Amino acid sequence: PIPLIEAKNLKKYFKTPAGILHAVDDVSFRINAGETLGVVGESGCGKSTLGRTILRLLEATSGEVLYNGENILSYPRPQMKQVRLNMQMIFQDPFTSLNPRLSISSIIAEPIRVCGTIKSKQGVRDKVCELMEVCGLPDRYVNTYPHELDGGRRQRVGLARALAVDPKFIVCDEPVSALDVSIQAQILNLLMDLQDKQGLSYMFITHDLCVVRHISTNIMVMYMGKVVEYAPKEELFLHQAHPYTQALLSAIPTTDLNRRNRKRHALAGEVANPINPAPGCRFAPRCPYACERCKEPQALREVSPGHYAACVLCQE
Ligand code: SF4
Ligand code: MG
Repeated sequence: PIPLIEAKNLKKYFKTPAGILHAVDDVSFRINAGETLGVVGESGCGKSTLGRTILRLLEATSGEVLYNGENILSYPRPQMKQVRLNMQMIFQDPFTSLNPRLSISSIIAEPIRVCGTIKSKQGVRDKVCELMEVCGLPDRYVNTYPHELDGGRRQRVGLARALAVDPKFIVCDEPVSALDVSIQAQILNLLMDLQDKQGLSYMFITHDLCVVRHISTNIMVMYMGKVVEYAPKEELFLHQAHPYTQALLSAIPTTDLNRRNRKRHALAGEVANPINPAPGCRFAPRCPYACERCKEPQALREVSPGHYAACVLCQE
């Protein structure tokens, strides 16, 4: 089957005074309908830029983004506007993206009015009520304002607004990172519930491996703009092939994981910016296994069916 979303050799570079920042550097992946791709990495690894580039909130430097098999990067504005209805985004702090002067119902109604699929006022009102119910927001919040809600409910409003145009795909950029753990679980369960009922696909961006384990079908690990490992969720948690993924996982409390991760190295040092990066492995300065061969470019190689990693250790 054709994947719902596919990226091919996607690049997003930024010019900076210090040189060219390779924020997203030759990234490819597929997301099927009803599936979630978890995108993991430390802050600055390019995961948010990737999410925005997929939706054309940022224009790609090169590469392709296919929606249902068609390259949307070549779409002119009006056609893109149509496709955009199928592709929405929710953010870490919905507060900054919710207009503080609008009531909850107006916020959720806005995209419905803009896309014009429902004409009558009553029709819009009914749709807003339905969306609030789906997202677990009681009726009494209809006329409240964003500042009157806690973080979890604001995220529900952000989600209701994203769902207002009946999207097929949602980029979720750290949507639970600012919330208490108990509230996090509620929002994750809501997202998974919606996926079951409506067949939604997600790209779920996070630095939190416990969260990504909960929600993902496949997981993609990014480091300095590059994909270093990609695998089905369970496979990744059982057998990490890339030293960076191993280090990330060893940072999770051990009671949470199988024993094999216990003796692994914790991450030392800082992530540099991928400005004018050298051709070799970008993890080398922090990698306990780095050797001469790591100065050569590392492409993703299949280490087991559906499981890819970019590391010399995976060549044998
Ligand atoms: Fe470490 Fe070399 Fe593998 Fe990079 S390619 S992760 S430096 S062993
Ligand atoms: Mg980010």
